[in-house]
Amino acid sequence: MGSKVWLDNQLVDEADAKISVFDHGLLYGDGVFEGIRAYSGKVFEFQAHIDRLYRSARALRLPIDQDKETMMANVETTVQANNIKDGYIRLIATRGVGDLGLDPTICKKAQIIIIAATIQLYPKEFYEKGLKVISSSVVRNHPLSLSPQIKSLNYLNNIMAKLEAIDRGMPEAIMYNHMGYIAEATGDNVFIIREGVIYTPPSEAGALEGITRSVVIRLAREHGYEVIERNLVRFDLYAAEEIFLTGTAAEVIGIVEVDHHKIGCGSPGPITRDLLKKFNEYVRQ
Ligand code: PMP
Repeated sequence: MGSKVWLDNQLVDEADAKISVFDHGLLYGDGVFEGIRAYSGKVFEFQAHIDRLYRSARALRLPIDQDKETMMANVETTVQANNIKDGYIRLIATRGVGDLGLDPTICKKAQIIIIAATIQLYPKEFYEKGLKVISSSVVRNHPLSLSPQIKSLNYLNNIMAKLEAIDRGMPEAIMYNHMGYIAEATGDNVFIIREGVIYTPPSEAGALEGITRSVVIRLAREHGYEVIERNLVRFDLYAAEEIFLTGTAAEVIGIVEVDHHKIGCGSPGPITRDLLKKFNEYVRQ
């Protein structure tokens, strides 16, 4: 039996979860989304994800005609209908049905889609051995064109960087902004460690305000680590003792090579391992 998907304000069978070819989410990538985890039957950082969805929508002047409480109830309903305990939720708000022109103002109503499923972004061994990444030549979107802080349905900027990584035989890429500062990975935030201090680029550098990022910063500080948000350049990657990425799907994952520069001793370092352990404990407490 297929899963149940929330669409048009109700649960429908996966096979019937179809949207119009005139939906501007499809025609123009006009919409916003969230990727959310559930751990042990509880939606992780639920309020933060819902708040970010509505912030992204507001930044695009995309009206969502239900309040946050109703949205959260609908997500819960979908999670329960699919009997998801440890899983991954995709919450989407598209601009809705319009015509073939760009004009978003003629789209009558946002289309809300909720999918509750499971995800394994990287195989388990990658968490033990670490990831190898490249520096992408694809510059992260300029904040005055499409702000990287909007989690929009248009991921072409990230997809081009991902393709470049795959072409070069690597699973992930680090993206830089128009000033040459590290922005983020294609779907994750970046952290580096130098002399025991943890650094991460500020969101103004072109990073999504990652929810895993803020949980990891909080956990790290609670456990006595110093965490500094500041602009970072490629040198900081090459000179780092440790590097790791954070994201809802990836969680916390060590980076062991950047552009063929070995990071640390070539396996995820002690602080990365410690934070991964603390993160895994925290999400399941
Ligand atoms: N940056 C980008 C571009 C992302 O798409 C994501 C989410 N996959 C992240 C960072 C990490 O954000 P979060 O921890 O909220 O999932």
